[in-house]
Amino acid sequence: MVRSVKALLLLSVALGAVSLTPAPGLATSGGAAPNVATGARTGGADPNGESKPKAAPKKKAAKKQPKRAVAKQRRARRKPKRAPAAPAPVTPAPVDDAPAADTVAGIFPVAGSFTFGGDDARFGAGRPGHIHQGQDVVAASGTPIVAPVAGTIVWKANQPGGAGIYVVLRGAADGRDYVFMHLKSGSVLVEADSAVSAGQQLAEVGATGVASGPHLHFEIWVGGWQARGGAPIDPLPQLQRWANG
Ligand SMILES: [Zn+2]
Repeated sequence: MVRSVKALLLLSVALGAVSLTPAPGLATSGGAAPNVATGARTGGADPNGESKPKAAPKKKAAKKQPKRAVAKQRRARRKPKRAPAAPAPVTPAPVDDAPAADTVAGIFPVAGSFTFGGDDARFGAGRPGHIHQGQDVVAASGTPIVAPVAGTIVWKANQPGGAGIYVVLRGAADGRDYVFMHLKSGSVLVEADSAVSAGQQLAEVGATGVASGPHLHFEIWVGGWQARGGAPIDPLPQLQRWANG
């Protein structure tokens, strides 16, 4: 069987050389049409507040390949070029009826006047190429941002094209990750790996990165921020509990 397939292949290649020589470029142009992203990612290494990168390009559409290319692929079969596509992660829909039991005691992270903005500020609101993964808390630039719970700063970085200056706090008691984005330049008072207490000031409200105005973009992740298996939840019920403290 193997032997006869091989013979057939050789024959095919020979025939291809004579009568089926593909036009230049044909072997690779079959999947050239761009694929539209199917949804926002929840994972990946790039944190992002307002402009999540589009989903990774999907693999090219199935294409007809000239026999020569097929033979070439078979020779390379021992080492497949592409792993089977994993199912695309799906951004969880907003959970409006999140049970109160999912919230923890703590301190509202914006120490000053604030609003929760409009529909566009909500978790799950549409954004170009992705879905809003947090709740915006609108407040004046320079308003102190404090740690809602005790924990450890696990990430501090700057992403000019999206989140701006941001920090991630992992709650000591609940293990959830709290994400604070668009922090005012020069205002961050904590470093990565440092422990913070509830109520300790972390930074100030700003508008760094992609932001239409000063606000805190706030996320809560269960299972690790941007981690495999981690996912954002609607932070509004938690914020409301802290606000009503
Ligand atoms: Zn936001």
